[in-house]
Amino acid sequence: MIRFMGVSKNYGTLAVIKELNLDVSEGEMVSIIGPSGSGKTTVLRILMTLESINGGVIYVDGEPLTHMARNGVLVPADERHLRSMRAKIGMCFQQFNLFPHMTVIQNCMEGPVHVLGLSKHEARGRSEELLTMVGMIDKKDDHPSRLSGGQQQRVAIARALAMRPKVMLFDEVTSALDPEVIGEVTNVIRKLVAEHNLTMLMVTHQMGFARDISDRVCFFYGGKIEEEATPRELFGDPQRERTKQFLSAIKEAV
Ligand code: ADP
Ligand code: MG
Repeated sequence: MIRFMGVSKNYGTLAVIKELNLDVSEGEMVSIIGPSGSGKTTVLRILMTLESINGGVIYVDGEPLTHMARNGVLVPADERHLRSMRAKIGMCFQQFNLFPHMTVIQNCMEGPVHVLGLSKHEARGRSEELLTMVGMIDKKDDHPSRLSGGQQQRVAIARALAMRPKVMLFDEVTSALDPEVIGEVTNVIRKLVAEHNLTMLMVTHQMGFARDISDRVCFFYGGKIEEEATPRELFGDPQRERTKQFLSAIKEAV
């Protein structure tokens, strides 16, 4: 579903992603862990086409993301191609970024109505279903400012899912939350893993959570995957020195 082939990204002279190869299969949940500044967020932003790349090719759902085929050669994608590719991908960030002037249900209906062209009736039905799934249907007519961080993040997840993406990206979605509400957000993600065949790529600092729900864990270091393995292997028997150092530093911090 996602394939990075030799992808590089520079900011000026700073190489942030270095010839990255990364594959995520359909229905797979892959976690990305690693130190701050190792390029984790950049990978997700590249997938959202919020960042351009300097080298390599990315495929999403069998199609090139930032390129398109024309007369048998790959050329840079035009806006129309980018728009159709963006529709395949949903993302939740650390900061929920709900529209403050809209109610919960309006937040969820906005994209389906204005981007996908659904009728209001259809968008409302879809949104109510998802708000029920994340346990927020009782708050559907509230504005985001009346909600806790955990509640806002659950609405943000429902809003992203209302676009019916094939791929969901999560970037430290629990990092800005009070400890007592982290569970309500991780439980929604657990539910997605258990009940839906979504392809998911998740950056997280919660090693226990990554260990529980991932099919595979990638340890990022310096803009590359230093080590990737099943959670059992990566957390239980890391092979690379840097992985060992990172995991033991985290253990000490807890
Ligand atoms: P992570 O999410 O792993 O903490 P990021 O992907 O956010 O790391 O950042 C990787 C590197 O790219 C860091 O060194 C960061 O300072 C740099 N970086 C990120 N965004 C920009 C930007 N817009 N301009 C310049 N440097 C950036
Ligand atoms: Mg980050």
